Amino acid sequence: MPDPDALPSYLDPRHLGSWGVYLQQVERVTPYLGGLSRWAETLRRPKRALIVDVPIALDDGTIAHFEGYRVQHNTSRGPGKGGVRFHRDVTLSEVMALAAWMSVKNAAVKLPFGGAKGGVRVDPRGLSRAELERLTRRYASEIAILIGPTKDIPAPDVNTDEQVMAWMMDTYSMHEGATVTGVVTGKPIPVGGSLGRRDATGRGVFVVAAAAAARIGIALPGAAIAIQGFGNVGGGAARLFAAAGCRVVAVQDHGGTVHREAGIDVAALAAHVAAAGSVRGFPGATAIDDPARFWSVPCDILVPAALERQIGAANAGAIRARMIVEGANGPTTPEADDILRDRDVLVVPDVIANAGGVTVSYFEWVQDFSSFFWTEDEINARLARILTDAFDAIWQVATERRITLRTAAFVVACTRILQARELRGLYP
Ligand code: GLU
Repeated sequence: MPDPDALPSYLDPRHLGSWGVYLQQVERVTPYLGGLSRWAETLRRPKRALIVDVPIALDDGTIAHFEGYRVQHNTSRGPGKGGVRFHRDVTLSEVMALAAWMSVKNAAVKLPFGGAKGGVRVDPRGLSRAELERLTRRYASEIAILIGPTKDIPAPDVNTDEQVMAWMMDTYSMHEGATVTGVVTGKPIPVGGSLGRRDATGRGVFVVAAAAAARIGIALPGAAIAIQGFGNVGGGAARLFAAAGCRVVAVQDHGGTVHREAGIDVAALAAHVAAAGSVRGFPGATAIDDPARFWSVPCDILVPAALERQIGAANAGAIRARMIVEGANGPTTPEADDILRDRDVLVVPDVIANAGGVTVSYFEWVQDFSSFFWTEDEINARLARILTDAFDAIWQVATERRITLRTAAFVVACTRILQARELRGLYP
């Protein structure tokens, strides 16, 4: 059922903040861009943004309207690339921020893409499978004027999965009159998906966390990990941390928070979440009733892997982690970045820490174009190499210039974006 409380985005102040966070990040990088800062305004202006009406017939015959978006923030380095999010709180300005972070992310790890993002303002848990399919197909039809394998390539994000991507690919293909697998990534394997894509974001979080841990002397065996979010990203990362001998001491999701000093059995927790829908009520750990207490759990590595702006001025001072590895997009505000820097908590930014998903999306897109598919070992090895090289390059810039890893990642990425902008010049 449609959510009667969901306001139109332009009346909902809750997510205007993510675009504001991004703009502050751009302000912080601008002094480091040298002559390219002449083009910096490019970073503040999305190239194009589309708002669409998505009307569908519900199973009971009534018609419901949902608001959808696709934003292409920048295409100087290649086609737009980024996921599609189904969430009741999605707004245009949030999608603008998420699209901009994709531009930075793709440039930071040197993928030949610009940045884009999409979303539909809907709580998909209230829809039947048939309603979800109709919503996805109508949304795909409405944004078909923007997307395409050489123009803009969607992928999964919060509350969208392989099945949603298969419906999007099929809808676009029906419009084209030919099967176009490369129009979306994160598809099921039988319709042009890639091995390793499902686990890629969580794997990337782990790979980057391991690289950062080595730099600051955290030994992974025995290290305490706290994770917010137990979906595709948080759940996948938790499994790899546990396999490396870490203790996953706390997990929080939309339903609750659980804690176990000796380490949670991650496979048992995953089975509980699959059955119960949330970590709440997991018998193998102690419940923490006040969600705010999650942030002060002592740990070596804190992984926010849920939504934006979870770590702000109000809770950054309470964090008792040695480093934060951002599985989510935009989980830390600039005010919190400053507090954490002053407290010597290393923040490994989203644009590198969660880039594993889009990196394997890139592999999927390349495989679709060549119709030649790689082994999972090849994919995982290439993923690890791209991410550790990107991390090392950003670490070096941060050390040389005495700036945070986030500003360093923005220096590397925005330099690449604006070099492309300058080389291409203005049209006409
Ligand atoms: N939604 C993911 C992200 O935020 C993946 C995007 C993609 O694969 O294009 O990075």
